[in-house]
Amino acid sequence: MAKHSTGGGGDCLFCKITEKKIPSKIVYEDDKMVAFEDINPQAPVHLLLIPRKHISGLLDLTPDEREVISHLFLTLPKLAREKGVAERGFRTVVNSGKDAGQSVFHLHIHLLGGRLLHWPPG
Ligand code: 5GP
Ligand code: ZN
Repeated sequence: MAKHSTGGGGDCLFCKITEKKIPSKIVYEDDKMVAFEDINPQAPVHLLLIPRKHISGLLDLTPDEREVISHLFLTLPKLAREKGVAERGFRTVVNSGKDAGQSVFHLHIHLLGGRLLHWPPG
């Protein structure tokens, strides 16, 4: 499994997931984004929401991404409801860089829920 994908298109794991070149359990997709189940879930519900466009992470956002970022966040509550975690609560996380443990360099929002989530996170 390619863990440290930095480039767009060709060698990026999550670009390959959006292109369905690598199988994943997709729960939602449209022209701008894909949401799928994390391969190594950290909670009973653990989804990853990603833009179809390759963006390495939060530090690479530009105003061009305004629409896709708002679309990701506007879709998130719908998925939380569908997965049954809206009422009890859930957590959204975007890891950025080394200290945060970002391991895939294609922007993704983690959506975690279905158990008590401790704070502060580890
Ligand atoms: P990060 O550590 O960059 O915040 O999150 C990357 C996430 O991607 C991890 O939670 C990891 O389990 C998940 N992941 C890595 N490779 C794959 C894969 O091939 N398929 C799926 N569905 N998730 C993956
Ligand atoms: Zn990518």
